[in-house]
Amino acid sequence: MKLLVTGGAGFIGSAVVRTAIARGIEVINLDKLTYAACLDNLASVADSPLYHFEQADICDAGALCDIFARHAPTHVMHLAAESHVDRSIDGPDAFMQTNIIGTFQLLQAARTAGVARFHHVSTDEVFGTLGATGQFTETTPYDPRSPYAASKAASDHLVRAWGETYDLPVVLSNCSNNYGPYHFPEKLIPVVILNALAGKPIPVYGDGMNVRDWLYVEDHADALLRVLSDGATGRSYNIGGENERTNIDLVRHICALLDAKRPKDTPYAKQITFVTDRPGHDARYAIDPTRMRTELNWRPSVTIEEGLGKTVDWYLENAAWWQALQKRDGVGVRLGKR
Ligand code: NAD
Repeated sequence: MKLLVTGGAGFIGSAVVRTAIARGIEVINLDKLTYAACLDNLASVADSPLYHFEQADICDAGALCDIFARHAPTHVMHLAAESHVDRSIDGPDAFMQTNIIGTFQLLQAARTAGVARFHHVSTDEVFGTLGATGQFTETTPYDPRSPYAASKAASDHLVRAWGETYDLPVVLSNCSNNYGPYHFPEKLIPVVILNALAGKPIPVYGDGMNVRDWLYVEDHADALLRVLSDGATGRSYNIGGENERTNIDLVRHICALLDAKRPKDTPYAKQITFVTDRPGHDARYAIDPTRMRTELNWRPSVTIEEGLGKTVDWYLENAAWWQALQKRDGVGVRLGKR
């Protein structure tokens, strides 16, 4: 296998690249290097003979054609996307360009090159929102509610259409919220850890009762490589950790971990501040991962308690990584702005 990963300098993509290379897979990382990218995430593999990097925009058909011709990848895993819901509300243009047009251009390039597999990485947000009960399955109707979710839903439809119409050997996965090392400082869990450590307010949207289903990023990378190799062509797989938590419970748990690992006079939870809710904020997401378990024999390796412990330790031990990113304009201030 020669694997072309798009978005490999991002949070999940870099976990995929590190894991794939550790397993002996040759990887071409194609990334535009937007604000969300960080090549430091790949420092451990940058010198590997299995690793190649191409800076390119997936919307650029000419660049894609050139990269496919030079590297001749057999497999594609497509993660490049604009990924932050709040940014999609403030400025949806880049989301439509990259997530829809970029996916279209990548499908065309993969079809022309004749790859053996095209794995599209998507989100459970395409399914909309749940009430107090139930879970998203692979047959749940699409009902995206934010510009980000709508753009990802559109890209999922394009991928299925290219599979049906052009026999491109596609496979799709839709995953719940990820967390773990190298998570960009604008996302909820890093914001909580870093604002707590800085003595700043820890913003929580609305009443904090929104429920998310959390998955440790390294478990997601493992699941993605399983879908890539063993998933049935044309099929989609819901990936989740069966770890539903309300946002406020999650934030309190992280505060308690910090109280134990980096004690100070006042408990960190005192910094929690409720802020005006995100417009159209989905109430609850929950993934039914039965297909991953029964068809692909995949299970997450860590519980959410273990994963959050590892994540807090990683942020405490890797201050140089997040301090460098915080110096970039506008990072770490999105949550709580509206
Ligand atoms: P991220 O924002 O951390 O990384 C995205 C990467 O894509 C960045 O390195 C960026 O430079 C690159 N990129 C953006 N636009 C590009 C373009 N036009 N051309 C080439 N590269 C471009 O995202 P993430 O959180 O790692 O998410 C990766 C994928 O997984 C996305 O498709 C996202 O929709 C999906 N997903 C994410 C989550 C999550 O919790 N983070 C959950 C489910 C699915």
